[in-house]
Amino acid sequence: MPDSHSRVAIVTGAARGIGAAIARRLAEDGFAVGLLDLDEAAVKQGAEAITAQGGKAVGIGLDVSSTEQAEAAVEEVARELGAPTVLVNNAGITRDNMLFKMSDQDWDSVIGVHLRGSFVMTRAAQKHMTEQRWGRIVNLSSISALGNRGQANYSAAKAGIQGFTKTLAFELGKFGVTANAIAPGFIATDMTMATAERLGVPFEDFKAAAAQEIPVRRVGEPEDIANVVSFLVSEGAGFVSGQVIYVAGGPKG
Ligand code: NAP
Repeated sequence: MPDSHSRVAIVTGAARGIGAAIARRLAEDGFAVGLLDLDEAAVKQGAEAITAQGGKAVGIGLDVSSTEQAEAAVEEVARELGAPTVLVNNAGITRDNMLFKMSDQDWDSVIGVHLRGSFVMTRAAQKHMTEQRWGRIVNLSSISALGNRGQANYSAAKAGIQGFTKTLAFELGKFGVTANAIAPGFIATDMTMATAERLGVPFEDFKAAAAQEIPVRRVGEPEDIANVVSFLVSEGAGFVSGQVIYVAGGPKG
């Protein structure tokens, strides 16, 4: 990759699960990484682990749905590591319930973290990318964007992220900035573990049952998503923009 732009990435929701794997992978790929999460202690630890391996990283606590906190965190990364040219909007929550039992709070918090969070983070970060005439935005959607029982809020947010991503691709392309979405299927993380707990099913049984429905006959691991992020933020992916890549062990979408 030419040195004409900075190699600094921001990953939200980087304390654990998919976000932590993406942060580790981007550090291995040679990016300085800003790890952002509600859990400040965990991202500071993650950043220390990357630094101990010879990389450059900073951990910052924030709520991505707060405009002030998002803008402050982006500027802190720019100060500490250099202008961020890669943004991975990964932070997420679920508040599952059937529609008739879903509260306003369940709706607002899920839309707030996924959609508002991706919006305010991207608005804050894009100015660094457009100034550098190079950038890569990757947003985490989900197979739930296609509809999923008990997830009216989450499905709406993850489908919204797809429209948001395509619009970013139209608006930012002329500045050398691409935007793509990854829509994971079942990935073994605390998020899917919590679903198993709520259903009263041991996690191993839950994963085994899910694997039976997946063409490659296994559930995904966070690294399966990190591998695709690694490609999408690479120099060689510069002609891929506005796409939704289903990473689900089979055809979806
Ligand atoms: P996870 O293990 O629950 O991790 C999500 C991370 O996001 C947590 O560290 C969490 O912090 C952080 N977070 C939540 N709300 C935040 C906020 N307002 N501000 C900053 N950080 C916040 O989830 P995951 O399974 O890795 O999922 C990562 C992304 O992939 C999410 O967008 C999810 O919707 C998507 N996804 C996951 C799957 C799957 O099967 N796991 C499938 C499709 C899509 P705390 O720990 O402090 O709560």
